[in-house]
Amino acid sequence: MDQALTEEIKRLTSLGLHRRCVEGALEGVAAKTLEINRLKKEKNAVVCAHVYQTPDIILGIGDLVGDSYKLADDCRKTTADVIIFCGVHFMAETAKILNPSKKVYVPSKNAGCSLAEAITGADVRNLKAEYPGLPVVTYINTSAEVKAESDCIVTSANAEKILRKMYEKHERLIFVPDRFMGANLAKALGKTPGKDIILWKGTCVVHERFNPELIKVYRKNYPGLVALAHAECPSELINAVDFMGGTGDMMRYVESTDAAAYLLVTECGFGELAKLRFPEKNFIAMCRLCPYMKSITLDSMLALLKDPSPEEVTVPADIAARAKHSIDKMFELAA
Ligand code: SF4
Repeated sequence: MDQALTEEIKRLTSLGLHRRCVEGALEGVAAKTLEINRLKKEKNAVVCAHVYQTPDIILGIGDLVGDSYKLADDCRKTTADVIIFCGVHFMAETAKILNPSKKVYVPSKNAGCSLAEAITGADVRNLKAEYPGLPVVTYINTSAEVKAESDCIVTSANAEKILRKMYEKHERLIFVPDRFMGANLAKALGKTPGKDIILWKGTCVVHERFNPELIKVYRKNYPGLVALAHAECPSELINAVDFMGGTGDMMRYVESTDAAAYLLVTECGFGELAKLRFPEKNFIAMCRLCPYMKSITLDSMLALLKDPSPEEVTVPADIAARAKHSIDKMFELAA
């Protein structure tokens, strides 16, 4: 076997990737990660990998790894000429808005998001006309056009903190597009949906379907279980768990606690990563695959690096300028 390939197999094994491969499959994965990492270097490209990606992408080829807030923040500091986003399209748009001189790509045409597709710029303009004077706080899972109509962006990592600050100056506000996250935040802040916080009807196709009844079943079967759920889940589910947050919060919670077992109610890639990061801890799966995130593979990465032009992400300059204003507001209030 080629020396470089042998070294790559050793590297992936040291990261624990052999534990998620069937016998003999690691060699094929290593051949792809080796070639991708070589092409990345040649093009001075950086790969942003969201925690919902598969571990071969996150650990094998990812340079910047994290949730949407961390990736947006890290992207601002990169010296690479090219940003390849192994995440979904709205994340890549955000990276482009923050780095207008860099080329930004997503290695899949299908990397959308049900939340981002739930609302348009025209919908936000209509809401503003219906509720004049109310600030629009927008979850980052939206298009650049929607961000351009907003006053401030939030992610699941900072939404509660930013909303608290917004409520210091405003009695009411509009929160779009995730109605479940909006209701969960309203409860945490003692606000009433429809009165203090105007919500939209968007949902995440992954998080809207978890069954709260199953949490009771798992608790019976695993004494000492701690259940963690993403803030995009419906309130009935959130009421049944011990901790609600974004994926960054959930990872920190696992790292800093020592429960008998953890039930991670979110996208499957997060659970896979947690198992690899904390092999000594006990994880119970209650996950769903995001079809958009999972449309990215090592093969689609290789195809992109060989012919990137069809997958370039662009944002019209006027929309980018207005969207940047609301994203910068997030960085200011989250600091
Ligand atoms: S998990 Fe949900 S919110 Fe995240 S990209 Fe998939 S559909 Fe969108």
